[in-house]
Amino acid sequence: MLLADALRLVAEGVFPARCIGCERRGTPLCDACRRELPFLPDGVCHRCGSRRGARGVCRGCRRLSSALSSVRAAFVYEGAARTAVLTLKFRSGRYLAPLMGEFLRETLRAHPLHAELVVPVPLGPRRRRERGFNQSELLAQEVAALVQGTVVADALERRERPPQQTLTAVERMHNVADAFACPCRRTVHGKRILLVDDVVTTGATISACADTLADAGARRVSALVFARDL
Ligand SMILES: [Zn+2]
Ligand SMILES: [Zn+2]
Repeated sequence: MLLADALRLVAEGVFPARCIGCERRGTPLCDACRRELPFLPDGVCHRCGSRRGARGVCRGCRRLSSALSSVRAAFVYEGAARTAVLTLKFRSGRYLAPLMGEFLRETLRAHPLHAELVVPVPLGPRRRRERGFNQSELLAQEVAALVQGTVVADALERRERPPQQTLTAVERMHNVADAFACPCRRTVHGKRILLVDDVVTTGATISACADTLADAGARRVSALVFARDL
C-alpha cells in the first residue's frame, strides 16, 4: 500500500463526517448550515441555470452547445456547496455523496425528467488512477433510479490533454472540444441521456460531452450538476 493511501485511510477513521458549512464534526450538514445553503436564485435561465443578461440575452446559453437541451443545477458554486464539491474529490470526502444526491434528486423533482442513460463526465485516465474513483460517477449513481436510467460510466472517454492553464483562450476551446470520445456509440444511439457532473464553470466541458454524445446519435442530452458558477 502506498504511504499516501495509508495516510488517507487513517484520516478517514480519524476525521468522520464534518459539516460542509461550519466544519462541525459528526454530521455532513448541520441544521443551521442547511438553512444557509446557496440555492440558485429566482429568475435564472430555465435552460442553462445562469443569470440572464440585462436585455434578456442569456450569456450562459450562448456559451452552451446547442446539443444540450438543459443544464439543471442544485446550487450556486459558493460557500458550503463549493466545499462539498471540493471535499468529494477526496476519498475521505466520499461520505458526502448521499447528501449531495439528496439535493440533486430534489432539483430533478422540481423539473422531472426521464433518461435511459445516466452518464458521468469522465476524468482523464491519469487523474482517474490517482484519485481511484470518479466523483461524478458517485453522483450519477445517486440519481439514476429517479430518472429511471442506467449509469453507463464508460459512455464517454476523456483523452489526456495539456493542462488548460498552459494554453491561450482559443487553444483552450479546441483543447476541450476534442477531449472526449464515445467508444460505445451503439449504447448511446437513439437514447435520452442525462449527463452528470459535480460543477460547471464555463460550460465548455459539459458542452463538449454533449456534442460527443449527439455525434454518436443520442436523441436528447440534458445535464445535471451539483453546483454552477452564475
Ligand atoms: Zn454547519
Ligand atoms: Zn440561459
